[in-house]
Amino acid sequence: MENKIIPYGRQNITEDDINVVVETLKSDYLTQGPKIAEFEENFAEYVGSNYAVAVANGTAALHLCAMAMDVNPGDKVITTPITFAASANCVRYCGGEVVFGDINPTTYLLDIDSVRKLLENAPKGTYKGIIPVDFAGRAVNLEAFKQLADEYDLWIIEDACHAPGGYFKDTKGDLQLCGNGNFAELAIFSFHPVKHIAAGEGGMITTNDEKLYKKLLHLRTHGIVKNDDLYSNTIEFAGGEEQYPGWYMEMQTLGYNYRITDFQAALGNSQLQRADEGVKRRREIARNYEKVFQDKLYIKGQSGLVEGHSYHLYIIEVEDRLGLYNFLRTNNIFAQIHYIPCHLMPYYRILGWKEGDRPDSENYYKRCISLPMYPTLTDDDQQQVINCINQFYNG
Ligand SMILES: *Cc1c(COP(=O)(O)O)cnc(C)c1O
Repeated sequence: MENKIIPYGRQNITEDDINVVVETLKSDYLTQGPKIAEFEENFAEYVGSNYAVAVANGTAALHLCAMAMDVNPGDKVITTPITFAASANCVRYCGGEVVFGDINPTTYLLDIDSVRKLLENAPKGTYKGIIPVDFAGRAVNLEAFKQLADEYDLWIIEDACHAPGGYFKDTKGDLQLCGNGNFAELAIFSFHPVKHIAAGEGGMITTNDEKLYKKLLHLRTHGIVKNDDLYSNTIEFAGGEEQYPGWYMEMQTLGYNYRITDFQAALGNSQLQRADEGVKRRREIARNYEKVFQDKLYIKGQSGLVEGHSYHLYIIEVEDRLGLYNFLRTNNIFAQIHYIPCHLMPYYRILGWKEGDRPDSENYYKRCISLPMYPTLTDDDQQQVINCINQFYNG
């Protein structure tokens, strides 16, 4: 047991998962088979949205969403600096400009007041949209963001990669699941192995808007349309007589190949069956951490116990973060840092961002560390993590 490695997150592949993948590999389809539609249907049901579109990965999902919302060169879009770079990069793929808000130092989420300030200090129409992130698994209050977005005529793309199964309570007291499409035009998820649901690589877009849904289906597969009612070219040109011939299709807009494969969808679907169980275990682990750390003087902040949090990450803020990180590593515990502020990545510095621009995000980065958090983390593993941290600070 001495040498057991405890990572900050890991996937859990069961015999059932393996069996459905093998079954799919033996079927007639490697890609674009029936498992994709099945996964989409089940996922939409899980998050409570009308539609779901499975894609190659979470970054592709963000790119397609930015395209679907017509982000154009020069368009300004607001997001948080404390996120994986893809949340911002999707705007750049379309030539848009990323404007970072700051975080709320308690929730670690994009601070709505910092967004309001940006909007108030620019002529109306300057900004096109907001990409809030359910960072660490804590649901953004999208009802509040939607109200603000409506005031300024903005769209919302919810980056819910950390938060399948997460929710917030709206002003009526109703539970609003992350990605349910009630307050955001689009939401995206990732099925990278460190996320709640693993498919190797994979992503999902959810929406309640039928038009956007159809647009995404085309964009996912080269912008190709196969539907007699939608063609621009004539039947005659197509080579038909009374109707379009069987082979005919049209590429109508510039899309991509962002499809997922059938066997990945099968794996995602199988994992989805255990998603609730996983979130339940994550909440238990969070409860254990919170209980231990609540009265520790070396803890300057933590994820804490929050209703609806789905705990992709459990974060503590500490002094001597580097010392703790290295000490944990020598004990085979591989904690991680989420995230290096995106606006200070060299790529964004070249675009004009500099230190001091987003002080709450930068202060958070100096102290944050994400502790091991995944459903198969045992109580003994967790105790070992806790003991190690206590040992580092108390000797
Ligand atoms: C993982 C992640 C992504 C990107 O997903 P991939 O599937 O790795 O491309 C985007 N945003 C956030 C917040 C993520 O955690």
